[in-house]
Amino acid sequence: MKPKIFVTRPLPAPVLERLAAPCDLEYHPQDTPLSTAQMAEACREVEGVMVCGARLDEEVLRHAPRLRVVSNVGVGYDNIDVAGCTRRRIPVTNTAGVLEETTADLAFALLLAVARRVVEGDRYVRDRRWKQWEWGLLWGADVHHKTLGIYGFGRIGQAVARRGRGFTMRILYHSRHRAPEAVERELDAQLVDPQTLLGESDFLSLHVPLTPETHHLIGARELGLMKPTAFLINTARGKVLDEEALARALESRAIAGAGLDVFEQEPQVHPALVEIPNVVLMPHVGSGTAETRLNMAMLAAENLLAALHGRRPPNVVNPEVYA
Ligand code: NAP
Repeated sequence: MKPKIFVTRPLPAPVLERLAAPCDLEYHPQDTPLSTAQMAEACREVEGVMVCGARLDEEVLRHAPRLRVVSNVGVGYDNIDVAGCTRRRIPVTNTAGVLEETTADLAFALLLAVARRVVEGDRYVRDRRWKQWEWGLLWGADVHHKTLGIYGFGRIGQAVARRGRGFTMRILYHSRHRAPEAVERELDAQLVDPQTLLGESDFLSLHVPLTPETHHLIGARELGLMKPTAFLINTARGKVLDEEALARALESRAIAGAGLDVFEQEPQVHPALVEIPNVVLMPHVGSGTAETRLNMAMLAAENLLAALHGRRPPNVVNPEVYA
């Protein structure tokens, strides 16, 4: 008998076809998030679930006694109760390896957009306020030759640093562990402590995962250590940054601007941030290109199928289950 599986979104047809051949596939036909109750109901009988923009918590696990694999369509897996899965020896997989460059592109797009006031300029032209060439119109900040600080020097952080090198930026980073020497050499990147990173960066880009340790990693104290000319970019997770503190810092010009793809209570955005002109806002689309979304979904399908066929999937985030 084919294993029963559930997919939480209507993913691209080639991916659903790939899954439907060896599995008894059901999927949520709307591009909307499922509630915990809906997830629990949908996972009741299944052996595998592909989670895309949904939460899978203890409540769902309790209702899914046959579950053998949780395949997350995304690299961050703070939406999954990994500890609960590990206790049940259920492998959890992510889509590391196919979305780093795309997410780094968006981080750099936000950096350039806020530094050079691209969104403000676009609005200025569309509002037909542009009447003549002006010497002092929409002055921004230089990006080239500035210091780029990377908080969380993993796959995406390093990809952003590579873009920074292309703009002749000086690269500083902070992670709990030092990057391999070859990576430091290639990117001319220097490991510094968080205070130095905050104090010296002209652009600070966040790339840590959301964990209990990184919740509100950047709050009022950290923002206070940044230069008043500095910009903050967040494409990691909203809760890594204290949004209230950021709004206060932007209003008081304690920092120069921000570019945000992620928010504390998505899809809500702190009301003050929507009113502040020197912040560029995007609706959590870091990996949102046609090519990358297809690659993510296909990789998630392969992870799921590997586990269902008794093989170790390539992207397991809780390898303890195979110990
Ligand atoms: P990764 O390769 O695991 O890199 C994360 C880095 O953060 C690691 O180098 C880790 O190094 C560092 N880190 C972890 N905890 C830390 C801490 N407490 N203090 C300092 N550094 C810490 O992950 P990635 O693939 O680059 O992805 C990073 C995050 O981006 C994901 O978790 C996800 O939340 C987010 N993301 C967002 C989008 C989007 O659409 N906006 C798309 C993809 C990913 P150490 O262990 O040495 O500290």
